[in-house]
Amino acid sequence: MEILKIENLSKVYGKGETAVKALDNVSFSVQKGEFVAIIGPSGSGKSTLLHLLGGVDRPTSGKVLVDNTDMYQLNETQLAIFRRRQIGLIYQFYNLIPILTVEENITLPLLLDDHKVDQKQFDDIVGILKLKERLQHLPNQLSGGQQQRVSIGRALISNPAIMLADEPTGNLDSKNSREIIDLLKMFNKTYNQTLVVITHDDRIALQADRIISIEDGKVAKDEVIRP
Ligand code: ADP
Ligand code: ADP
Repeated sequence: MEILKIENLSKVYGKGETAVKALDNVSFSVQKGEFVAIIGPSGSGKSTLLHLLGGVDRPTSGKVLVDNTDMYQLNETQLAIFRRRQIGLIYQFYNLIPILTVEENITLPLLLDDHKVDQKQFDDIVGILKLKERLQHLPNQLSGGQQQRVSIGRALISNPAIMLADEPTGNLDSKNSREIIDLLKMFNKTYNQTLVVITHDDRIALQADRIISIEDGKVAKDEVIRP
């Protein structure tokens, strides 16, 4: 089943002579349960692609369909709700809310839309992420690896159609990086959670089922490494 479909996606920043074509007619699809790594040199358009997949920016042209919903046909309010429900975002620098506890950070995407927290699901996620003893702590009382585990919890709590990570190990040492990669892979394999990771880290790319290389705003290569 096709969970993500990108059709002729282009993004131009600026106008006239200074315009930059950051993405140039990119198309690809991702199947449910797939683990895709997106790699490419700095400036190739990876962040732009991630912002468009994550619904945090709008394309110049083209479509992004997540579970058959054409995201950019939604208005701003609908898009914000859709994004919180269907796209779990994980950032390099965690983006946790400093004045909220671990528990509040994890459940925030549900609470913002007045959805109830499924206590069993919450307990399961928190158990797997080894955060049970940390629920009442604030982000600045946690290590980087723990903070990234909280952000994985926040990304998963709404059962999103896709989990989208931007350099999730970029700020971590090798031990914590390995732990985060193992956790992402576990949720991918055990729960069939679709996972798209943008990364410079070969250790992550080589764990993926498929590697898409972006160069000059285009798909330069798209290889299945684990069928
Ligand atoms: P990557 O994440 O692969 O480093 P980006 O998507 O950040 O690539 O950038 C792709 C191209 O678009 C680069 O030339 C970059 O300078 C340009 N770019 C990215 N964001 C903006 C922006 N907000 N305004 C203007 N140019 C941008
Ligand atoms: P990354 O390290 O993820 O590739 P960048 O350093 O390319 O990120 O960009 C960081 C932020 O700056 C992004 O939000 C991007 O959109 C913006 N940006 C990148 N290039 C430009 C640019 N030439 N002009 C304006 N904003 C830019």
